[in-house]
Order: sequence, then structure tokens, then C-alpha cells
Amino acid sequence: MRVLITGAAGFLGSHLCELFLSKGHQVIGMDNFITGHARNLAHLAGNPDFTFIRHDVSDFIFVPGHVDAVLHFASPASPNPASPYGYTNLPIQTMKAGALGTHNALGVARANKARFLLASTSEIYGDPQVHPQREDYWGHVDPNGERSVYDEAKRFAEALTMAYHRFHGVETRIVRIFNTYGPRMDLNDGRVVPNFLKQAIEKKPLTVYGDGQQTRSFCYVSDLIDGIYRLLLSDEHNPVNIGNPTENTVMELAEEINRITENPAGIIVKKELRLGHDPQRRRPDITRAKTILGWEPKVSLAEGIQKTIPYFKERMSQDD
Ligand code: NAD
Ligand code: UDP
Repeated sequence: MRVLITGAAGFLGSHLCELFLSKGHQVIGMDNFITGHARNLAHLAGNPDFTFIRHDVSDFIFVPGHVDAVLHFASPASPNPASPYGYTNLPIQTMKAGALGTHNALGVARANKARFLLASTSEIYGDPQVHPQREDYWGHVDPNGERSVYDEAKRFAEALTMAYHRFHGVETRIVRIFNTYGPRMDLNDGRVVPNFLKQAIEKKPLTVYGDGQQTRSFCYVSDLIDGIYRLLLSDEHNPVNIGNPTENTVMELAEEINRITENPAGIIVKKELRLGHDPQRRRPDITRAKTILGWEPKVSLAEGIQKTIPYFKERMSQDD
């Protein structure tokens, strides 16, 4: 296959590029570096099967030659308002990547009769009132709350993807990604794993927002990427949750990271919430992924954190 991956210079996009190349496919990576970095793709530069196009997906996308699949991953993804990479600091760009970017990427798929896969998110469930979250749950989202620029852009993107499937017959896939972490996450994008790992490696106290009893379910990147590949090759056009069903409180995550890194500095509970409508509980029901894709995650939280630490240490020793 010849595959277009938008958001290629980001955390997940760069791992996707690697996976497709390792399976013998040709990859065109596209990114405008708004939250991603050229260094995430530097090791692919000499690969004859890899080409890179610097482009904002919110503008019309032109790809020379035929493509067989389009994976649309371009979007800011961190909710942290303390980071310049947080989507609340890039609100219009976030809505445009989800709306105009999805429209343009679907257009490429339609013109090429290619498969299309949308990177959707557990955020479309909002602060969920059903737990764990199954794909048939419609969600609990404030359409103009602080997180809405991201949540509603992704909900629109899902609706547009289904419209292209139903009306134009495009072979579409929708993956609802739950919190994923691993090497090449941006150290400064403010998400919980990079924040905690950076603090722990510097032997500083970990900052917990709220009471720390809010939960997330953390998936290691190799598990996620495997699930996405299986979904693309499947016949499933309905949304599929991909994530790790092991649920932890944010406090438990902090304690685990301090234990693994032997950080004696402890935890600071900030009390105030970082952002309104912080989801209180989040865990994927992965029955659909198990049944349809034969997929389930293999890497435990402790293993995944261990695998991620060397990357963080290396990045922290460099200053680019
Ligand atoms: P990331 O910020 O590392 O990667 C996003 C990439 O998209 C960056 O390289 C950025 O420069 C690029 N981009 C953003 N807007 C663009 C535009 N207009 N044109 C071209 N490129 C653009 O974040 P990530 O964690 O790798 O997330 C990738 C995708 O997966 C996003 O769509 C995100 O919503 C989705 N997702 C991620 C998670 C997770 O836990 N990592 C969870 C749910 C959904
Ligand atoms: N969080 C925290 N300390 C931090 C960063 C995040 O306690 O330094 C909390 C945040 O308030 C949220 C959870 O960790 O409840 C997950 O945050 P993240 O930014 O990783 O993503 P989200 O799942 O909220 O989109």
C-alpha cells in the first residue's frame, strides 16, 4: 500500500510511519509541526519508501500519485492550558484540523478510492455517565465548555467520516483512542505521563490536579499502533475503542511512577482542576476490538513506564 499519514511528526504519527514501513508499505508523512517535531521522523529520512510533505491539513491537500489509504492523525491533542501545545491555546487550529482537515483528508481518500482511518478519541464521551465506555454510548459533552474545541471537532470529524461512508461509499474506519503514552511524547505538552515522568526524573514532587481520584486507562504505544493497523485492514466501519482496560486513579499513576523511578520527592495535590469538565472516570470497553480485531493490549503500566523512561532521560539531556 501507499499510505498518507497526517500528523506524521507527532507522537502517534511517527510510530505509525515506522509500523507501515516495517510491513513493507510506502508512506507519505504530512505535518505542519504545530505540536510535532522533525526530529521524530529524522531516522526515516534516508528510507526510499518514505516521503515527507510539510503542509497544514486545514488547507486543500495535494498528494502526487495514487494512495491506497489515508490515516488522519493531525490535531493538537493535549488538554493542558499550561502548555503552549495545549489545545485550549490552539483552539481555532484544533477545530480546523478536526473539521477542515478531516474534510480534506476524506477528499483525498474519495478521489483515490482509498481506505480512510480517523483518529478519534475517548474525549467524544466527555465526562462519561456510563462506565466503562462502550462504542454505543453517545457521551456527555458540553458543546461550549473549555474542552469543546477538541471534543466537538472530533465528534464532527466522526460524523463527517460516516457521511463519506454512507453517501460516497468511502471505506472508512474510526478508532477511538484512549490515553496512550510512550517514547516520542512531547515532554512539554503537559499531558499527565510526560509531566509526571519529567518531574520524577528531576526528583521533583509530582503535581496532581483535583483530588487525584479521577481515573484514566493508560495504553502503551506499541499496543495501540497494533490495534490501529488491524482496524485499517478489517471491514469495520463503526467506531472501535482501542485502549487499555486497566483503570487507575491519577494518584495511583503518580505513586507508580515515583516507585519505579525511586523518586523520594512525593506528590503535591493541587486541589483545583486543571480544566473544566475533567472526565472523572475513563475506561474503554474493548469487547468490540477483541471480537472483531482479535486485539487486546499486552504491555502493563509498569512495563510501559519502564520502556518510556530511557527516551525521557535522553530528551532531557538535550536542549533542542
Ligand atoms: P501529537 O501532538 O504528538 O501529534 C499531532 C501531530 O499533528 C503533530 O505532529 C502536529 O504538528 C500535527 N498537526 C496538528 N495540526 C496539524 C495541521 N493542521 N496540519 C498538519 N499537521 C498538523 O499528538 P498525538 O498524541 O500523537 O495525537 C495524534 C492524534 O491521535 C490526534 O488526532 C489526537 O487527537 C489523537 N489521539 C491521541 C491520543 C493519545 O493518547 N495520544 C488519545 C486520543 C486521540
Ligand atoms: N493531571 C495531573 N497532573 C498533571 C497533568 C495532568 O494530575 O501534571 C491530570 C489531569 O487533570 C487529568 C489526568 O491527569 O485528570 C489526565 O490528563 P491528560 O492531560 O494526560 O489527558 P486527559 O485524559 O485529561 O485528556
